[in-house]
Amino acid sequence: MKILVLNCGSSSVKYKLFEMESAKVLAQGLAERIGMPGSCLKHKPAGKPEVLLDQILPGHSETVENILELLTCQKHGVINSIQEITAVGHRVVHGGEKFKGSVIVEDNIFKDLEKCNELAPLHNPSNIAGINVCKNLIPYASQVAVFDTAFHQTMPSYVYNYAIPYRYYSGYGLRKYGFHGISHKYVVQRSAKILGQNLTCLKGITCHLGNGASLCAVDAGKSVDTTMGFTPLAGLVMGTRSGDIDPAIVDFLAEKEGLSPSEVIEILNRESGVLGLSGVSSDFRDLESAARSGIKRAALALDMFVYSVSKNIGALVPTLGRLDALVFTAGIGENSPEIRFRICSSLNYLGIKIDEQKNDCRGMEIEISTSDSAVRVLVVPTDEEIMIANEVKSIIKDGQLSLAN
Ligand code: ADP
Repeated sequence: MKILVLNCGSSSVKYKLFEMESAKVLAQGLAERIGMPGSCLKHKPAGKPEVLLDQILPGHSETVENILELLTCQKHGVINSIQEITAVGHRVVHGGEKFKGSVIVEDNIFKDLEKCNELAPLHNPSNIAGINVCKNLIPYASQVAVFDTAFHQTMPSYVYNYAIPYRYYSGYGLRKYGFHGISHKYVVQRSAKILGQNLTCLKGITCHLGNGASLCAVDAGKSVDTTMGFTPLAGLVMGTRSGDIDPAIVDFLAEKEGLSPSEVIEILNRESGVLGLSGVSSDFRDLESAARSGIKRAALALDMFVYSVSKNIGALVPTLGRLDALVFTAGIGENSPEIRFRICSSLNYLGIKIDEQKNDCRGMEIEISTSDSAVRVLVVPTDEEIMIANEVKSIIKDGQLSLAN
C-alpha cells in the first residue's frame, strides 16, 4: 500500500510517499514560495539524484500537479501511475473539539472542518486547500485528515478550561487545545517500544523542543496536559514566541507603542522568545556559540529557555503522579546535548541522572539516563510523516472493516 503524506502551508507543500509494507520512503520533497517570485520544488526520489524544479508555482493546485508528475515521470518518478496511491494523509493543524482522531474526509465533514478555520486562520485554510486539490487530482484515493490537536483531546475539562467566564468556552470554543500532537504521540509510542514497556503502564513527559516547543504529559498513551494553549503562542519560551506572559502586557504594550492588539500578538509570535531576548538569533546553534563567546543576552536567553522547560516539567509531574520516562525530540531536543544536560541537571531532585557520554549524541534514538536514574531519559527523533501515514493506514483498515460489517 502506498500512502502520500502532504503538509500544505500557506506558501509551501512538504510531501513524502511511503511504501507501507516496508515503511520505506519512496520519495520526498518540498515546494516553497508558492505564489511568489522564486518559487521552486525540490524532489528527492529514493535511489535517484535530487531534482530542483524552479518553475513558477502559482498555487497549491499547480504545485500538487507538479508533485504528482514528478512522482510518476520516467526519469524522476518512483511509481508508474498515481492510481497506485491508496490514500493521502493531510496534516491539519486544528481539529477543534469536533475531531478527536483522524478522519476520512467525506463531503459531509467538510463543513465541520471549515468551522475550525477560525481557530487557526493562518494554517487551516491552506491545509484544507490541499485536501480539495487532492480530491480533484487523485479522486480515487481516500483523503485523510490527521490533526495536530487531536491527541490532546483526552485532557480533562479542569485542565483545558481557562478560568474566564464559561460562556466564552461554550460560545467560542475558547479553551486550551494543545499542538504538536502528532509528534508527541509518535515519540511516546516509540519510547514504549524502546523501553520494552507496555504503553498503557507508562507515565511520561515528552519534550518537543524545536522552533516551536511544547511539553506533553502522557499517561497510558493519552495526553493529560500540555503546555501550549488556545494557540501555539502559549507555554514554553520558544525560538521567536514569548510563551506564557501576563496577558495585561498586551494592552500595556499596545498603548505604549501605539499598536493594535493583533500587532502586539504578532510581536509576541515573531520577535520574542530567545530571538527577542538575545537580539542574536532564534537558532540554538548560534545562541550556544554566542553565549560561549561571552554575549550576555544570548546566555540569558538560554538560561530562560532551560528554566522554562524545567519549571514546566516540574509542573506536569503531579498530573502524572509518577514519572517513568522523560523524552526529548525535535531540533533542539534531538541535537543539543548541552540543553538536555542543563534541563536534566535541574531535575536532579526527581532522581534524574544522565550519562554524559551517552548524552553526547545528535539525531539518534538513544537512552541517555544512567542505570540508577529514577526516570529513564530518552532521545527519540520525531517522525511526524510516518505517524501520519500510520494513522492513515489504520483508519482506512477500520473503514474497510466497518464497510464489511
Ligand atoms: P521547527 O520544525 O519547529 O521549525 P525544528 O524541530 O526543526 O523546528 O528545530 C529547529 C531548532 O533546532 C532550531 O532552533 C535549531 O537551532 C535547533 N537545532 C538544530 N540543530 C541543532 C544543534 N546541532 N544544536 C543545537 N540546536 C540545534
